[in-house]
Amino acid sequence: MSRGRRRRKDASIKGTSAEGRLETWLKRPPRPMGGRGRELSVALCYPSEYSLGMSNLGFQFTFGFLISHEGVRCERVFWDEGSGHLGRSYETGTPLRDFDVIAFSISFEDDYFNVVRVLEATGLAPFAAEREEGDPLIIFGGMCAFLNAEPIAPIVDAVLVGEADALLPPFLAVLMSERQSGRDLIIRSLAQVPGIYVPALVDIERDQAGRAVGFSGQEGVSLPIRSACGGGEFAETVVLSPDAYFSDMFLIEISRGCRRGCRFCAAGHVYGAVRHRAAADVIERVEAALPFARRVGLVSASLGDHPEIRWILRELLSMGVEVSVASLRIESVDAELAGLLVDCGVRTATLAPEAGTELLRRRIGKGTSDAVILRAVAVASAAGMKTVRLYFMLGLPGETDEDVEAIAGLVRRAQSVASAQGRARVTVSLSPFVPKPRTPFAWAPAAGERELRQRIAALRRVLSAKPRVRLTSAGPREARREAVLARGGRELAGPIVMVATQGVPWKAALRRAGVDAEWIAGREYGADELLPWETIDSGPSKDVLRMAYEKIMPRP
Ligand code: SF4
Repeated sequence: MSRGRRRRKDASIKGTSAEGRLETWLKRPPRPMGGRGRELSVALCYPSEYSLGMSNLGFQFTFGFLISHEGVRCERVFWDEGSGHLGRSYETGTPLRDFDVIAFSISFEDDYFNVVRVLEATGLAPFAAEREEGDPLIIFGGMCAFLNAEPIAPIVDAVLVGEADALLPPFLAVLMSERQSGRDLIIRSLAQVPGIYVPALVDIERDQAGRAVGFSGQEGVSLPIRSACGGGEFAETVVLSPDAYFSDMFLIEISRGCRRGCRFCAAGHVYGAVRHRAAADVIERVEAALPFARRVGLVSASLGDHPEIRWILRELLSMGVEVSVASLRIESVDAELAGLLVDCGVRTATLAPEAGTELLRRRIGKGTSDAVILRAVAVASAAGMKTVRLYFMLGLPGETDEDVEAIAGLVRRAQSVASAQGRARVTVSLSPFVPKPRTPFAWAPAAGERELRQRIAALRRVLSAKPRVRLTSAGPREARREAVLARGGRELAGPIVMVATQGVPWKAALRRAGVDAEWIAGREYGADELLPWETIDSGPSKDVLRMAYEKIMPRP
């Protein structure tokens, strides 16, 4: 870390937070904060632990945007059980009821439960229709808003669909100009802003079974709401913390979007055109952060696709920076890239073949051959990586027993080439496939819990016999819940509230509400069916996605 690092003075400050953490602010230091006053007050909530929120670049970016905005005061909120801060802001411990707006940044469907817990701890009614004049406005944005806002549509007042820098300026402008107006008027004005979805102004027509068969907007709201993208700014860490999941790591987004179009991947579909951050800008921002950060995390959906990635790494190497990266696109891994990463301190190469056979990989839009995967493993090991982590999904549409068995075969061969070329150990991460809205696989059924359990157990049996292979897997039960939350509609709001406020187990809450989880997650949706998330339009059109689905799915 010390090799030749250039240091320069910056306007950053260190400060001890309300909970005694020593944080470093890389953006303008916080002004005196607190609840409502002359300026608009926003409580920005990451509905999970501090350590996770502080390592979430979307949350950091939104926070940085809000604290820099004229006329706005913003404080952070986390859901850290046992922190003594529940229902209060992180910076000053101000009760959340005292803010004008509580804004949730939601990246994972499972965080919906904590949204309701935050509202309960704040003393606010969980459903928007029950809240009163003078209550803070409850909004949410983030990846879940892009995908499907319906499960918590009855809980929030407005949904910001798109990228924060495109949406926040018009959102804040409305709030500032209408602040003295009543709640109803503010909400109606927000509904006129492109990219803002106000669920209370959208009626849902249901069939006898209670399923949505039509949508209509009230008072001139035209549907679907199109997501707003292309604000043009890239994200980076605003506050460094030793207690973040990525401790004291300066995260910097080097590109947004991905042109690979893997058919299971929502991130690869919703962001529109791919944008790369200029290499000189990356280096300049890293230089400014270096006196305070221990490591730099390069954030990109597909790192190897940045046209100047090698130049960036060479510069970072000459500055003595320790680098961290997420997964590498398999085809981009060659001796030069792997060597640069190892020289920059990267010790684990994360590669995502996703499926065991070439046939299934082609079907999911990841047409990487076995030979290319094995070459990448060999190159990474030869370059000096200590670990090669291979990601696979189970329960992919059309997956057969042979596809699953082939994972074990591929892993065995990967360990052999890794050992022959260097000393890397191969680890395997398995996660159940979850069909996500806005992707060609949105219509596909999610595999059942029992089937997934059997497949994971079978692979574990085979691979545990290999001494240098380690296997971890995500839980089938959690995956099924995620699939229900990803694909369901407003009927899920009741069960979410039951779980969060009464501690009712998820499946029992669904039963009590008469919601059929199998119908939502476990079946193939029909071509003519209205999908619950069609109130919002983001990413490619439904027709384009459906055509892709029809083309790739095996038919009897
Ligand atoms: S899985 Fe990776 S490479 Fe494929 S579309 Fe998503 S981000 Fe791009």
